[in-house]
Formats: sequence, C-alpha cells, structure tokens
Amino acid sequence: MKKLVTLVLACFLLTTSALTISAQDDPIEITPRAMACVCGSKMDDITKYGQWKGAGQRRCIHHEYGLDILKERTVTRKYVCPKCGEERLISESTQTRWFCEGYTIPDTGE
Ligand SMILES: [Zn+2]
Ligand SMILES: [Zn+2]
Repeated sequence: MKKLVTLVLACFLLTTSALTISAQDDPIEITPRAMACVCGSKMDDITKYGQWKGAGQRRCIHHEYGLDILKERTVTRKYVCPKCGEERLISESTQTRWFCEGYTIPDTGE
C-alpha cells in the first residue's frame, strides 16, 4: 500500500511542478534503479518466458532406458508501465535445459 501512496504522491508532485514550472529551476532528479515512464509512473521490471522447444536429445544419463530431451526457450526482460502500457526492452536471451524422459524398468523380483 505504501508503494501506491508514494506513486500517487509522485504523480501529484509532477503535475504540481508542471503547473508551477517558472517558480523553481531545480536540476532533474533520477531515482537510482527506478525506471520512470514518460507518463510519470514507475515501470515494472518484467521477465517473460517463451514456450519450451525441442533442441536436441541424448541417451538418458540418469536411468537405464529412455532419452534426455534438450529444450530451449526465449527469455525476454523488459520494463512495462502498469499505468499507460509503455514497454522498453532490457534484454533478450535463450535458456536451455535438459528434461529427463528416462525410465527404469522396476525390478519385479520373484
Ligand atoms: Zn507510463
Ligand atoms: Zn535422464
């Protein structure tokens, strides 16, 4: 809740300073690690993951039978403004991971 109040206050101050722009001539302040949107709101740091897609396979190294499947997906990091929807791309990368699809035939014994 405190974050929201600060946000509302920041918007109010911005509007006020725009109206009384001739009164003060302060240098622009940049809050560290806070990405400000053009609308005056604070942007959220969003990470988006794409669908896993098959990229390769190998004989399972964990079990007696089956395969390990190599899959990859895209990871997109961007700033998104919750107020006006403005987006700013931070980075785009590919993530790879082995998915085990191996199995062991259970020992039924006697
Ligand atoms: Zn915005
Ligand atoms: Zn495996």
